[in-house]
Amino acid sequence: MRKNIVAGNWKMNKTFEEADTLISDIMDLLEKNELDRNTLMILCPPFPYIEMCTDYSNDSYFMVGAQNVADQERGAYTGEVSAEMLQSLETSYCIVGHSERRQYYGETDQTVARKVDLLLQHDIRPIVCCGEVLDEREAGKQFDVVKRQITDGLFHLTPEQFGQIVIAYEPVWAIGTGKTATPQQAQEIHAFIRNLIAEKYGKQVADETSILYGGSCKPSNAKELFANPDVDGGLIGGASLQAKDFVDIALAF
Ligand code: PEP
Repeated sequence: MRKNIVAGNWKMNKTFEEADTLISDIMDLLEKNELDRNTLMILCPPFPYIEMCTDYSNDSYFMVGAQNVADQERGAYTGEVSAEMLQSLETSYCIVGHSERRQYYGETDQTVARKVDLLLQHDIRPIVCCGEVLDEREAGKQFDVVKRQITDGLFHLTPEQFGQIVIAYEPVWAIGTGKTATPQQAQEIHAFIRNLIAEKYGKQVADETSILYGGSCKPSNAKELFANPDVDGGLIGGASLQAKDFVDIALAF
């Protein structure tokens, strides 16, 4: 059975002390409110806090993910962080192809494909983001955009490799805007993505792939979104910065 996943993308937020407080508040809440056994929580802090998170995660309340990774193995790439480094810090997951990386740092589907390969070589599971911008949605092109992102970013993988992938569908017009896709819009595109995977890798691989929704997900809408058969959780930005909101979202299953 595929996992339900609630992953918190902290983006470029929190000082070291604030991060420490957020994690311990999350752990306090998880002690009082047990998650469903099939729900996995992942925290994706900024790079400098990964080690602190993995230290805490030894208590096994959550797994730790990075928000980005270099598209090169190692060497003279000032400021970059490699998959090998993340592996040495016991990072289990890594977000790839987030719309902010595509928009502000020029990441393409080809960059995504290279990063995915490097992560898999280092036993880190990629959380691969896809999703259309508002103009594309208004032109009815969301299916074409998502199909291209998934095909070009991921369909070079073997079925075994694809089994390590988590997909996050994040309509760009819903990220940080307070606008959420309706449960029907989310289900429609999640089912489309699962069907694409089934056509390429077969039904079993498709049925085992967790497909998360991202875009202004919060405690008040999580239950309705997660109730859809093809929505297996969320990639949460703003609401993951508040311990109670984030845990309440994880408790929506
Ligand atoms: C995100 O950036 O992945 C995200 C979903 O952000 P938010 O929840 O703030 O819309």
